[in-house]
Amino acid sequence: MLNIVIFGAPGSGKGTQSERIVAKYGINHISTGDVLRAEIKNGTELGKTAKSYIDQGQLLPDALIIDILASTLDGFKESKGVIFDGFPRTIAQAEALKKMLAERGQQVSVMLDLDVPEEELMTRLIKRGQESGRADDNEETIKKRLVVYHSQTAPLIDWYKAEGLYAHIQGLGELETITADICKAIDSVQ
Ligand code: ADP
Repeated sequence: MLNIVIFGAPGSGKGTQSERIVAKYGINHISTGDVLRAEIKNGTELGKTAKSYIDQGQLLPDALIIDILASTLDGFKESKGVIFDGFPRTIAQAEALKKMLAERGQQVSVMLDLDVPEEELMTRLIKRGQESGRADDNEETIKKRLVVYHSQTAPLIDWYKAEGLYAHIQGLGELETITADICKAIDSVQ
């Protein structure tokens, strides 16, 4: 089983690279952001709660997102593996993921840290907001999301280094080059 955590700041290219990895390795993809946006679109209670956090650039409470992740994971039958995109985003979530996988006799294979300079993140997200109309891709909310990333999510870099699972990926450059670097990191743990 290949359990890949794709990690990086908002706008680092996690979604784009995840699609490519899914196509190459035939594994399942969980994007917590996509799950939440689908709930918002469908007007569910969960969607209403999610929207109030997302519009503020804040993270959803750990307990809530961990439940969502667990039920999505249980929906995958006979899976070759999973790419976790947008989860974990806090140390508590990383610990929950470790426990959840251990209960299934599995573990994280590698954590890929897509490293992109801050000015580039800003440019990409503003462009994405203009093209997709994604409500949280406006300058004010992007700034808040980056602050949240640095304070709550970036500490996971050291956490995964301590677990011996960390792989640094240069996230600036040609899409193909980045994908090739990612594949190299994955193949070295297979
Ligand atoms: P990005 O990484 O580009 O900011 P995502 O689509 O992964 O975007 O997530 C969008 C928003 O959804 C986040 O800003 C946050 O509010 C919420 N969210 C997604 N994943 C999580 C998570 N693991 N824990 C808490 N909140 C989350």
